[in-house]
Parts: sequence; structure tokens; C-alpha cells
Amino acid sequence: MLQMVVCVKQVPDTTEVRIDPRTNTLVRAGVPAIINPFDAHAVEAAVQLKERYGGRVTALSMGPPQATEVLRRALGMGADRAILLSDRAFAGSDTLATSYILAAAIRTIDRETPVDLVFCGKQAIDGDTAQVGPGIATRLGFTQLTYVMAIDSVDLGGRQIQVQRKLEGKREVVRGRLPALVTVVKDLNELRYASLPALIQAARAEIVTWNKDNLAIDPAHLGLKGSPTSVRRIFAPPERPGGELIPGDPRQAAATLVAKLVLTKIIADK
Ligand SMILES: Cc1cc2nc3c(=O)[nH]c(=O)nc-3n(C[C@H](O)[C@H](O)[C@H](O)COP(=O)(O)OP(=O)(O)OC[C@H]3O[C@@H](n4cnc5c(N)ncnc54)[C@H](O)[C@@H]3O)c2cc1C
Repeated sequence: MLQMVVCVKQVPDTTEVRIDPRTNTLVRAGVPAIINPFDAHAVEAAVQLKERYGGRVTALSMGPPQATEVLRRALGMGADRAILLSDRAFAGSDTLATSYILAAAIRTIDRETPVDLVFCGKQAIDGDTAQVGPGIATRLGFTQLTYVMAIDSVDLGGRQIQVQRKLEGKREVVRGRLPALVTVVKDLNELRYASLPALIQAARAEIVTWNKDNLAIDPAHLGLKGSPTSVRRIFAPPERPGGELIPGDPRQAAATLVAKLVLTKIIADK
């Protein structure tokens, strides 16, 4: 039986986030909150492994009470239970504090039944750092397998996992020891539609909430206080200048284009 934990983050749908040109701030009003897209693939991967080898999938999220929505989504996809980590003391955490809190929760789960595999998305589409997964692996001393695009096999008896990692222009086959932390890319699997009975069950399921007192943690490592980085300023990138259409005869237009590219030093003059 594989004991698995999947970390899921609730994020604003960044495809719908606009920037107010007057105030230079993000307009979040009316923007739907969704499960981080990479994390949905992580849940699917864990559920597929459960179907193949047997096991249990725990979805874990740190966030405000509304984050239960993404936990219900994970339950609808086949996760067996959900835990929300919610406390005012967690707010304002950077990646170091976030990975500290998530690792502490995984340690608590591990004491109950030893955890074999932890899944994270490759990155969150709002923070975009891709640091939380490796941070958790380091804290727990788990094998770290990032950018995973395929899981070939898990050998529970031999305590091994073999995966394929997506590198630039190639794939890398890696075998590592369990327990391991895997961060996933979208190529890993196709998301399936949740069945109606599963959705109804997920809507009714009890979601356990843990606060800082439920975890063995040092309050000095949490939230803004526990975050060595701080965001000083947030602003919109400068608007791109409009494009230019080069009209006329194709040969002439190509020559004009090359001349302009040389002039702006985008390509070198031969
Ligand atoms: C000074 C400062 C203040 C901040 N204040 C806030 C704030 O008040 N509110 C706020 O929402 N953010 C805040 N942030 C952003 C916050 O630090 C990041 O959202 C967080 O550290 C996660 O990093 P990331 O989004 O880059 O995740 P990544 O490292 O890109 O995420 C990788 C994977 O890790 C897992 N993961 C990441 N975060 C979570 C989570 N919370 N729960 C479960 N799994 C997770 C997911 O599987 C995800 O796919 C602040 C950041 C800084 C530096």
C-alpha cells in the first residue's frame, strides 16, 4: 500500500488577472480561484498509482478557509482525505516558511503511517518560484525528483521509484529510493472528469483543519516573521510598444526586415 500526500495550492486564475494601469496593482476582484493546474496533474498521478498499486492519497493545502474548495476538487478526483493548514500565523509566508509548514504537516502524517511519496506541482502559477517542492524534500530528507513527465514503476518491496524527467530537449530516466518527493509537469497525464457520485461525496466530505498548535513547529519560522524575503514593490511591466507591418513586395519587405533587425542589433551584420 502506497501512502501518498499531494500538496495542492489555491491560486487566482492568472489567465484572467489584469493589471490596473493607474494604480499598477493586480485586479483580483471577480477572478476565479482555481486549483493550481500543475497540482491537478499531481493529484491525478497519485490516484493512478493508487489504482495500480493500492494505497491512500491525502490532499494537503495551506491557505485561508476558502482553500477547502481545491481540497474538495482533489477529493472529487479520487483523493481519500483532505487536510487544510490554516492559521493567521501562516499568512505572508515566503517559500522557505511555506515549505517549513507543509513539511511539518507531512511529518505529522508520517508518524501515523509512514509516507512513501509526496507530490507537488512543478510550480504555482501565481508565485511562480518552483521552490516549495524542493524545499519540502530537503527538510524531510526525501529523494527529490523534479520535472517528472512519467512514472515508470514503483517497487514498494525494494523501496525504489523510476521516473522520467523532462529536461530541455531530452528526457532523463532516474531511479531513486523511497520515500521520494516528485514535482510534476503537465505532460505526465490527462485529467479525467470527476464522476457525479464522486463530486457529491467530495462536497459532503469532512475536511480536517490543522493550525499551528497541531504541528510540531517553531512559531518564529512562520509567516512574515519566518520569511527571509520580503516583497518591497509590485508593479506592472511596461507596456510593449506596438508592432510594425512591413508592406510591399515580399523580397523588398524581407530585405527591409533584415536591415531593421541588424539596426536594432537583434541579429548580427555578416
Ligand atoms: C514577503 C512575502 C509575503 C507573501 N505574502 C503572501 C500572502 O500574504 N498570501 C499569499 O497567498 N502569498 C504570499 N506570498 C507568496 C507565497 O510566498 C508563495 O505563494 C508561497 O511561498 C508559495 O510559493 P510559490 O507560489 O512560488 O509556489 P511554488 O514553489 O511555485 O509551488 C510549487 C508547488 O508547491 C506546492 N505548494 C506551494 N504552495 C502551497 C500551499 N500554500 N499549499 C499547498 N501546496 C503548496 C504545490 O504543489 C505547488 O505546485 C508572499 C511571499 C512573500 C515573499
